[in-house]
Amino acid sequence: MALLPILTAPDPRLKKKSLPVAAVDADVRQLMDDMLETMYAAPGIGLAAPQVGALKRVIVLDIDREETKTGPLFMANPEIVEASDEDVIYEEGCLSVPDHYSDVARPEKVRVRYLDRDGKQQELACEGLLATCVQHEIDHLDGILFIDHISSLKRNMILRKLLKARKEQERDEAEGKPHKADAKDPEHAL
Ligand code: ZN
Repeated sequence: MALLPILTAPDPRLKKKSLPVAAVDADVRQLMDDMLETMYAAPGIGLAAPQVGALKRVIVLDIDREETKTGPLFMANPEIVEASDEDVIYEEGCLSVPDHYSDVARPEKVRVRYLDRDGKQQELACEGLLATCVQHEIDHLDGILFIDHISSLKRNMILRKLLKARKEQERDEAEGKPHKADAKDPEHAL
């Protein structure tokens, strides 16, 4: 397994649409395993392949809460086949939008169909944080970030701050200053 670099907005690769995988072969399984390790190390509770620069419809999740303990979930070609009319609001964050959080409304319950790590078709009924997380990750496969669900004013402010932070980090690295670790909140890192 290997840790993969996580792309951050505004990276054009995060805006691209990912392609379905033809089958869950050894390469896809390797990608899934590397993504899971990368997600745990970040730390986060969900990660989509385009966040590590692979434009494939693959996501991984692991939600460990009192009410929900999923264990590691690997999904290839995930699609929402049912969604509730009721929405729920959750304060989302994203490993590709570090240190920024915003309320996003999404269907409270969804049913997702996908291929698991063995290439077998599965369906999973999701609610609560799991439903939010699955929808957030599938959005990534369509080039959509959680900040695309909020006002353009707030989105542009976040993107400007991310660019500024990136420039400061590049300058610090050029000057040989120690890298400031991001204070990430794993509760919100989807
Ligand atoms: Zn995300």
